[in-house]
Amino acid sequence: MVSPLVGIGQARPYVRWAVRALLVPTLLSADLPLPGEVSLVPRDGPPMAVVTAAQASALSGEAACELAAMIGAITGRRPELRSGDGTAGVAVGTVTESPLLNAAIRLDANDFLHGDDHLLLSHTNGLLLIGATPTAARHAVWSFLDRLGYRRFFPAPKWEIIPRHAELRVWLDAVESPDYLNRRIWYGWGTWPENQEEYRVWCIRNRTVSAFQLNTGHAYDHILRRFKMVFDAHPEYLGLVGGERKSSKFCISNPELRALIVQYAVNAFREDPTLSSLSLDPSDGGGWCECEVCAALGPPTDRAILLANEAAEAVRRELGRGFIGLYAYNYHSPPPTRLRVHPAVIVSVATAFLKGGWTVDGLIESWREKGAALFGIREYYSVNTWDRDRPGSARGSNLKYLADTIPRYHSMGARFLSAESSENWGPNGLGYYLAARMLWSTQEVARLDERREEFLSMAFGPAREAMDRFYRLIEGSQRPRISRDLLGRLYRATADAFERAGDRADVRARIGDLVLYTRYVELYRAYSAARGDGRQAAYEALIRHAWRIRRTGMVHSYALYRDLANRDRSVAPPPGAEWNVPEAKNPWKQSSPFTEEEIRTLVEDGLRNNPTLEIEPVYWDGPLRPAAAALGFPAVPNPRWSEPIWQSRGAQTLWVWVPVAPTTLIVTVTSGLIYTERGPVQITWSYGASEIAWSLPPDRQPHPIEIAVAEAGLYRIQFADGMAATRLAWPEGLGVTFPTHMEPRYDEGSGPRWFYVPRGTRHVTGYAAGFSGTLYGPDQKPRHAWRGEDDHFTIPVGEGEDGDLWSFDGSLAKRVFHLLSVPPFFARTPQELLLPEPVILRDRPALSEPEVQPR
Ligand SMILES: [Zn+2]
Repeated sequence: MVSPLVGIGQARPYVRWAVRALLVPTLLSADLPLPGEVSLVPRDGPPMAVVTAAQASALSGEAACELAAMIGAITGRRPELRSGDGTAGVAVGTVTESPLLNAAIRLDANDFLHGDDHLLLSHTNGLLLIGATPTAARHAVWSFLDRLGYRRFFPAPKWEIIPRHAELRVWLDAVESPDYLNRRIWYGWGTWPENQEEYRVWCIRNRTVSAFQLNTGHAYDHILRRFKMVFDAHPEYLGLVGGERKSSKFCISNPELRALIVQYAVNAFREDPTLSSLSLDPSDGGGWCECEVCAALGPPTDRAILLANEAAEAVRRELGRGFIGLYAYNYHSPPPTRLRVHPAVIVSVATAFLKGGWTVDGLIESWREKGAALFGIREYYSVNTWDRDRPGSARGSNLKYLADTIPRYHSMGARFLSAESSENWGPNGLGYYLAARMLWSTQEVARLDERREEFLSMAFGPAREAMDRFYRLIEGSQRPRISRDLLGRLYRATADAFERAGDRADVRARIGDLVLYTRYVELYRAYSAARGDGRQAAYEALIRHAWRIRRTGMVHSYALYRDLANRDRSVAPPPGAEWNVPEAKNPWKQSSPFTEEEIRTLVEDGLRNNPTLEIEPVYWDGPLRPAAAALGFPAVPNPRWSEPIWQSRGAQTLWVWVPVAPTTLIVTVTSGLIYTERGPVQITWSYGASEIAWSLPPDRQPHPIEIAVAEAGLYRIQFADGMAATRLAWPEGLGVTFPTHMEPRYDEGSGPRWFYVPRGTRHVTGYAAGFSGTLYGPDQKPRHAWRGEDDHFTIPVGEGEDGDLWSFDGSLAKRVFHLLSVPPFFARTPQELLLPEPVILRDRPALSEPEVQPR
């Protein structure tokens, strides 16, 4: 094999990296060698030694060892390790360890904003891999190896790619500096002890470890414990709640309380010279002080910032360094109303759990207006409780989301990003890997397709194309839904990939991991649909599988084992099979790795049990119009949904036909039915481009809104309530129609819902997930029953049953129900059903005049 960076011609691309060096005062220091080509490992002759300073830090030494080992693996000849001043050989270290080289001209060991910066410089006598800090020295090694083609895509060793080169000649001149100073992709729940080292290695080799530690975790509880005696002696320091001084929040208006915490902060920095930041984030939840003096300070954010600002000011005054961290999250997500943020306070904006109808972008803008110059993002790339490692379910699986948000937040000024994630490299691994690259350099976004292609080629070689299909099927932006069809396609892709992989054992091993992930999805589908005794059995099969494959890191087995039964009281591990009982004594734990033969059997079974469907969705275009009169729908009452009332959650849209105008409609809104703390519910009423909006309190009280309607016609009513749950009540006589879609519905109630099967339709096809209910034909006889399985459905339409009304019942709450071959709309009664105008015009009896007035 040829060397990767031979000669000047191939070195040219690296000039691009050198551009960043222009940011530092002198491009070429007199003390730094001139950049030039060097042969590190000649075709014949001994490899150049890897050199560290005699007084090198442990991290630099470790990095040098790893480099020597890796050069050995790449070339088959391992360089010797020795100490030296770095003027010759492959020098690994920090600016302070390599004073002779005076790389400090280009790197600053004392600037915390550049603690990850490193220099890669080849010269006639060797190569400099020098970091501003020991952490950065290690980055330099992995930056260099990345340029040689080394990759650690996922933590499990089988996802490591070690290139082979007979010789190494390089020409390098670059200073690397990350766009995000923190690039944390961490496991919510943590993981098994045996998986921790591989994850640590992944973080190092993908440079997600940072020299600067941003501390932002909830801190008040810790302070309460640490100063327990002080708080016991001074109950007035605690927040006043319901007349008692008992909260886990402080009475921040109390100057003595503030002095205590300011001193705590100063001491923390004084005692630990390496401390870059200290968190003063409030404890989780509510309980903010109700005393009058605190109320006068303003909302919770103003109080939290007052305390953080005073601490930051004192720390800077006393020590001239250090930062105070806190979240913009929950009650203190909105920016302060009266204070500006101290420049040494770093706010991390959470991208979930926002209060008061804020968007992430809106919050960032508003915090910046309040002076938050340096801030971070608290992300949620995966939360096991939310996504359970389902394909395409978490942000970490959505490359479009990652490629949109990482550079955008950076361009808005974000310099820290901490992403709660899961050990689920099956669905999200590609996303995590690419996110790590984009967090280092947002320029990577422009190369995203190329990087994805590189991943497929390097990891799957001859099976690249089949695995490209696999990854497209689980891509989050495509919103995949679990079904037998999806499983069948995933198994098909892996079967094709195995065929292509031939004698490439490394490729077959990686495909095997994704088969084990697919099998997990299949077991998860069975579990989520199972009822009664079958549910425990399906749960057991799922947990056994997750445990057995835990070393692959494909699914978050640790979180699943610990959390699934917490949230589903109908299942539990029997005594002795709990997550923390060791394998030797635990009947559920059997972790001998799957053999390739077993994996091939899983694929064969998977193909047999999961037939793919030929579903051709029909797209129904055109404005919605009342259909009952034109199509002769009967006036059927709906005794189980007798009132024109509807309750749902989240962001919802309803279509409304107002038959007679001008008129004044009264729609009554009751919100906060589940949560009263999610901020006001936003209601919008729109007609064409014009829109009226209301913001109503989520106080569980009915709020009638009056809508003056000038013209008859089609309107849209929308609400967004932050999942607080909202009920709408409207007058009888309106046409109110609900769209079906592939998102979970939150509609309460279970009465019949009517939909229309156009003439000529031969099958009612669609998709349902988690839904239990019955479908009725126009004769009111049951045609199909759902039992909670996630799957497509295809129900034959008999002779004369088209051009008629069908219905279904069952609870839609938190379920998915979508119609694909008929207009995706349903209504409470046939009289209220609106349909796309072209359907009505096509299906109405000949010669009848249209009853509707298109506008
Ligand atoms: Zn107070």
